[in-house]
Amino acid sequence: MVIAIALAADPKLIIADEPTTALDVTIQAQILRLMAELVRGKGRSLILVTHDLAVVSEMADRINVMYCGKVVESGPTRDVIDVSAHPYTKGLIGSIPDLERDKNRLETIKGIVPNMFDLPKGCKFAPRCTRAKEICHVQEPEVIHMSQNHQVACHFPFREEVL
Ligand code: SF4
Repeated sequence: MVIAIALAADPKLIIADEPTTALDVTIQAQILRLMAELVRGKGRSLILVTHDLAVVSEMADRINVMYCGKVVESGPTRDVIDVSAHPYTKGLIGSIPDLERDKNRLETIKGIVPNMFDLPKGCKFAPRCTRAKEICHVQEPEVIHMSQNHQVACHFPFREEVL
């Protein structure tokens, strides 16, 4: 109902925070279709805040992956999904069910998100990162440009060619 009222006002910018959480898949699809029509058909802008990477990959032109309140990877959707550079992004994508992958269990990101009032030094993802080295625990990583439009905040990003 709230979503319908907001969309009926024909806004220039829509900020949707987990708009499809707790909705069944048919309603979810309707809401997303409506938003897509507004964006593509009427030239409106949409900022979608969500944990659902499947929705993101369908809807977004650009993705900002956030961890502990900071953007850790940013780029065009296909770059961030297909050639993720940040270990957290890789972990998120690895945890999505994929029928074509020959795996019995989904990948997980070990550990838990740190207390926002007691954040670790250096990279905030270091306690959970399988690539962490000494420097990660003491020095916050700077933003690296993987390409003109694709940035990552990591000392040791994954580097792969765009296929
Ligand atoms: S900076 Fe280090 S700990 Fe942080 S994501 Fe990159 S490799 Fe992992």
